[in-house]
Amino acid sequence: MLQLQNLIDGEHRAAAAGVTFDAWEPAVGRVYAQAPESGAGDVDSAVGAAKRAFPGWRSLPAADRSLWLNRLADLVQRDADALAEAESRDTGKPLSLARTLDVPRAIANLRFFAGAATQFASEAHAMEAGAINYTLRQPHGVVACISPWNLPLYLLTWKIAPALAAGNCVVAKPSEVTPLTASLFAGLCIEAGLPAGVLNILHGHGAGVGQAIVSHPGVRAISFTGGTVTGRHIAAAAAPHFKKLSLELGGKNPTLVFADADFDAALAGTVRAAFANQGEICLCGSRVLVEKSIYATFCDALVERVKALRVGDPLEPETEQGALVSAAHLDKVLGAVAAARADGGRVLCGGERARVEGERCREGWFMQPTVIDGLSAGSRANQEEIFGPVATLLPFETEAEAIEIANCTAYGLAASLWSRDVQRCHRVAAELESGLVWVNTWMLRDLRTPMGGVKHSGQGREGGFEAMRFFTEPRNVCVKY
Ligand code: NAD
Repeated sequence: MLQLQNLIDGEHRAAAAGVTFDAWEPAVGRVYAQAPESGAGDVDSAVGAAKRAFPGWRSLPAADRSLWLNRLADLVQRDADALAEAESRDTGKPLSLARTLDVPRAIANLRFFAGAATQFASEAHAMEAGAINYTLRQPHGVVACISPWNLPLYLLTWKIAPALAAGNCVVAKPSEVTPLTASLFAGLCIEAGLPAGVLNILHGHGAGVGQAIVSHPGVRAISFTGGTVTGRHIAAAAAPHFKKLSLELGGKNPTLVFADADFDAALAGTVRAAFANQGEICLCGSRVLVEKSIYATFCDALVERVKALRVGDPLEPETEQGALVSAAHLDKVLGAVAAARADGGRVLCGGERARVEGERCREGWFMQPTVIDGLSAGSRANQEEIFGPVATLLPFETEAEAIEIANCTAYGLAASLWSRDVQRCHRVAAELESGLVWVNTWMLRDLRTPMGGVKHSGQGREGGFEAMRFFTEPRNVCVKY
């Protein structure tokens, strides 16, 4: 049994109260580790350490902070195999995906913001009246970075890297569902000799330690990625203190397939968008809108592809769909399928728990990739985030109807649209109520671009200089000459 620890003030520590919680391996349905159930006392220690570290960290030349981030990236790169194995074990995702997506992206995040540290610049505004304004961009002090379970190391580094690059000190809280890679990363910070207190990582549940972090008066800004309900809760906790907030929340993302699309590319893109990482990516296209003239052909082809997806042991190289992250999440996804059936949906494939052959994964939390049609755009399965391997199909007749259906949820995170008509692509992209739109592709990410959602998918943007702006406070200085 592994014993995971917090990172506080440059050292591994157990929770002050000595309490732990179990961490589970989804593919086998067993506990593999215990992690600290941190509380308000641990938050005080972490915030105190971060406050003490802040004057030294903020006054380092940006080039030195950049070196620190690159040093951490080097260590993640050195341990890439072990980190990928840990990520797969902790989340249930295929090891091949952790190797090709999660870990490379964590390295890229650290290196990208190592670069941003030295390249971030501020503005100056000269006035005709003989004065010049310049904007100082200063770090906030202690900031919180709270991340979810679906891309644990990827999203942890996506937040802490810009926070540290901009000169803040961080109290981070990974998801209690997936504490493993954050704990290994903490070990790398200690090995690198990162100055004590610059980054603190606390494990534990959201309602306890998470709430204590976001309501701590010493935390000036909160960068949060997770569910919309949690985001609302955090916004309410932060409001009395006027903390700066970045909220990356849920989605119910549409994939729009027009009849003039490259059929094979659209089909492959739709399957990838709906089922990558078992559908447990906020950007997943879980509503597939297809133009009526190709609806039947596209549905048949889609169902055939989805049936062929290999659900299996995440360690097997040919596995395309691993386990869902927890027993509770599997129940939630199965419940959503039951609700879809009750609402009149036809399950065209999947819909049940999957049993994986072999002794090792007999008790694992696997789910058959599922496609449902026959539901109205307003039905629960087309309105509520399922966050699992479930896609719904909806026909449309006109471009206007496609846009109307695409926009008719409370969410607005991402969309992808497939068409060969360039004019239409630009026209539709501009009409979609969505923070990100992909045209003839999905999840092609350039880290310089703004990332985030509209409506209930969040507020603020991450990525590139947007993140550097979030993690700094602009102050204007006006000089008369
Ligand atoms: P979640 O909201 O349950 O938890 C996210 C994090 O918040 C966890 O670390 C959790 O412990 C913490 N938390 C929970 N309650 C808290 C509280 N009261 N105060 C402070 N922290 C608290 O989300 P999840 O189930 O881990 O992740 C899935 C969700 O994340 C989905 O809705 C998904 O769409 C969303 N997500 C969004 C993005 C994005 O970029 N928009 C990316 C990935 C995931």
